[in-house]
Amino acid sequence: MVNDSREKGRLTRETILAALETVKDPEIPTVSIVDLGLIYDVRVKDEEVEVDFAPTFVGCPALHAMEQAIVERIQSLGARSVQVRRVYRPPWTADRMNERARQALRELGIAPPRPVPAEITLAVFEKLPCPFCGSNDTRMENLFGPTSCRALFYCNTCQQPFEAFKPL
Ligand SMILES: [Zn+2]
Repeated sequence: MVNDSREKGRLTRETILAALETVKDPEIPTVSIVDLGLIYDVRVKDEEVEVDFAPTFVGCPALHAMEQAIVERIQSLGARSVQVRRVYRPPWTADRMNERARQALRELGIAPPRPVPAEITLAVFEKLPCPFCGSNDTRMENLFGPTSCRALFYCNTCQQPFEAFKPL
């Protein structure tokens, strides 16, 4: 049974990670940042918390809101101070997503993000498999999709548009 007063005062790596399950990317409201693998580490010492956070979608306007949500969520557990550190090494890859995140993205019709290569080129966007039919016969329609974090693609096989994450 979940009990708020019991949750308070038990500031551990585990309770913090569990609490962060409620923090979502506002653009992907069904997936938590934990499921996306964006939390690299959590350190707790004397009610002071440090979070290593991978800012995968740099320049994404949601980034600041997400960091603020992380701080507020951990403060609600009784932390005295919360630091969110942006961590760029090792770079985030799609391997860090769990199955729940993959499933949620599939249901939204969003292709899972690709591993970020050492050097970002537009080649990342070539031959992205369609999330609906799996075909590799796809093309990028518009680098500037409905949000700044995603690009629009079109599947030549099932003739459906879909979205994909920009690598940065
Ligand atoms: Zn398709």
